[in-house]
Amino acid sequence: MGNKVKPEVKIISKPESILKTIYTACRTCYSSESPINICEEANDEEKILKLIRKVLSSGHLSTIEHVQISYAINGISRACSHQLVRHRHMSFSQKSQRYVREKGQFSYIVPPTIGQNPILEEKFDKFMSEISRFYLELTEYGIPAEDARFVLPNAVSTSMVASLNLRELIHLANLRLCSRAQKEIRVLVKMMCEELIKTESWLSEYLVPKCEKLGYCDEERSCGRKSKEGGNNGRNA
Ligand SMILES: Cc1cc2nc3c(=O)[nH]c(=O)nc-3n(C[C@H](O)[C@H](O)[C@H](O)COP(=O)(O)OP(=O)(O)OC[C@H]3O[C@@H](n4cnc5c(N)ncnc54)[C@H](O)[C@@H]3O)c2cc1C
Repeated sequence: MGNKVKPEVKIISKPESILKTIYTACRTCYSSESPINICEEANDEEKILKLIRKVLSSGHLSTIEHVQISYAINGISRACSHQLVRHRHMSFSQKSQRYVREKGQFSYIVPPTIGQNPILEEKFDKFMSEISRFYLELTEYGIPAEDARFVLPNAVSTSMVASLNLRELIHLANLRLCSRAQKEIRVLVKMMCEELIKTESWLSEYLVPKCEKLGYCDEERSCGRKSKEGGNNGRNA
């Protein structure tokens, strides 16, 4: 079926130099020099990274709030976007179901657990078509999109621009890369992190599930990546 979609993630805006931005924020706190000079003279990447790592390990996290990143996100379910919008330090502009009326079969996401079973997937597809037919029937009766959308499922595809600062991205990664998080948001957040790591490889040590940061698993049941007592259980989840 042509209406089944997969997630797409692209960074549409970020600071020209993330390292310089954070370094300038860090050094400004402890230097009599002007931040303008600090920024202009920041050229030694090794020195910059050393300071940033030190400041971050001491928990001085307001320094990374200056790094604002905007993502264009497409092809996620409303179930997934609903989880994402729970993060209160993020900003969103999401495709409206009031102003954008579905004109034919709406696009939707098939969870992999259903998609891997051909019989269930066929039934799922049929059910989506049925919903679509009823949605269109409602709109033909003159029911406005804002009310017709009440029959749309959690699986319906959505798009958004989502912006957040680096502190919040690390927090998001810590929570949503954990294997206890739901699969679709885990995949989405992994894509968001990987997009940034493409140009900021130093961030790979921070954009990790919370157990990597804590050194142990604080969930009721461990997936095996880290034990409850700490340390590696010998497998990566
Ligand atoms: C595995 C998993 C299962 C979940 N299950 C459920 C569920 O069953 N039901 C449900 O409702 N939600 C559930 N959630 C959502 C969860 O409760 C949070 O709403 C969501 O993860 C956002 O996290 P947060 O509040 O830490 O982060 P953000 O909103 O991103 O905020 C970041 C941090 O800022 C601080 N902060 C933000 N706002 C405030 C505030 N008002 N007061 C004080 N400090 C603040 C906190 O330190 C917070 O950790 C689940 C999340 C996960 C990861």
